[in-house]
Amino acid sequence: MKNKQATEIFRKYLKDGMNRITPERFEVLDAALEYNGHFGADDLFILMKNQKSRVSRATVYKTLELLAQCELLLKRNFGDNMTRYESNFKKQSHDHLICMDCGRIVEFTNPKVKELPEEISKELGFDVESYSFNIFARCQNTKKCKYFKEKK
Ligand SMILES: [Zn+2]
Ligand SMILES: [Zn+2]
Repeated sequence: MKNKQATEIFRKYLKDGMNRITPERFEVLDAALEYNGHFGADDLFILMKNQKSRVSRATVYKTLELLAQCELLLKRNFGDNMTRYESNFKKQSHDHLICMDCGRIVEFTNPKVKELPEEISKELGFDVESYSFNIFARCQNTKKCKYFKEKK
């Protein structure tokens, strides 16, 4: 177990929810927190398989769901009907810009975007729980865009 603090958070969450505590689940936790960037459940499963892990696909799916529930991971949807995850452990909150041609995902933070959900909810008489904000765009520099590179 590589992430002691995250391991403890997850162990407590599993215990409190009367979920089974298995070494496989912590293996998925470590792999998920180490993953650099945004990933689908299958991406992680394939990566773990390549590293000779024996964790099943079903366990990866189920564990990612649990990790999102206890907020060690964040669930993202970038408009292609595919659920992606990313680490939320010791990470600053941020939003995303996605290139519609090459799929490149750029993370950014902007104080204006952060304030708006709070402001709007308050105005409408709600307490904000979460929000999602994605910008869909196209690389201006086609030399940097993988889509144009591959077309050539
Ligand atoms: Zn992100
Ligand atoms: Zn692009």
